[in-house]
Amino acid sequence: MLTGKIALVTGAGRGIGREIALVLAANGATVIVNYNGSKESAEAVAAEIVQKGGSAEAIQCNVSDFAASEAFVKQVLDKYKKVDILVNNAGVTRDNLIMRMTEEDYDTVLDTNLKGAFHMIRHLSRSFIKQRGGKIINISSVSGVLGNAGQANYSASKAGLIGLTKSVAREFASRGVNVNAVAPGFIDTDMTKNMTEDAKKTLSSMIPMGKMGSTKNIADLVLFLAGDGSDYITGQVICVDGGMCI
Ligand code: NAP
Repeated sequence: MLTGKIALVTGAGRGIGREIALVLAANGATVIVNYNGSKESAEAVAAEIVQKGGSAEAIQCNVSDFAASEAFVKQVLDKYKKVDILVNNAGVTRDNLIMRMTEEDYDTVLDTNLKGAFHMIRHLSRSFIKQRGGKIINISSVSGVLGNAGQANYSASKAGLIGLTKSVAREFASRGVNVNAVAPGFIDTDMTKNMTEDAKKTLSSMIPMGKMGSTKNIADLVLFLAGDGSDYITGQVICVDGGMCI
């Protein structure tokens, strides 16, 4: 159980982040439900947690903004005094072949997916080190492990997250702070909904288990990594992908 723990989940108003927030709260954590644009759905996630007897608050912050992230972390620490579990889940895609990829699309994806995680870890680092304990979980992707045609920006950001995870894991290991990455495969959310049926079929055929994963498949691993069971695990990248990365 995560009773007494404070969890901060970025991009928790929708999709995988929403499920992670609900699962952590169901296991006793107080959850900060971060969102950028999805105010209503983030507030609905927090309300659902509270209605089920848990504790949660929705707070807006664009994690790609260094100063805004710093103010967000300050707001959370002023009120909750600590963060025990940080889940860097916020992410975007701007897919295109490299020869057509704009600088803006490259920067947006890197700034959100990779720099956003850096901002959150950087601003919480003093607090994590001082409390000599905590769990940082970065949501990477199989695209960061394997690469993916048409996703050079996204794959670079997700591979970067793996390097960030391993380096910070080494920096924080002696302080009792575990830093791990989860690499989801092909999960049913808004991010994958807009793909054509044909593209979904082709992708599914590349999955040894032959089907898409659910947000719960990801949240269940995050729950494990957030709890005491992961105390001797750090710097790892765990694929939840129906076997794509075998
Ligand atoms: P999604 O449904 O599109 O949700 C993306 C989330 O990221 C939203 O909650 C969004 O918040 C948040 N976000 C985007 N930009 C943000 C910013 N600047 N600041 C704060 N929050 C921001 O995507 P998803 O499928 O749940 O993906 C969640 C994570 O899993 C992402 O990191 C994604 O790369 C990763 N992933 C997904 C899959 C998949 O198959 N779905 C596979 C591998 C990895 P707002 O709506 O409030 O803007």
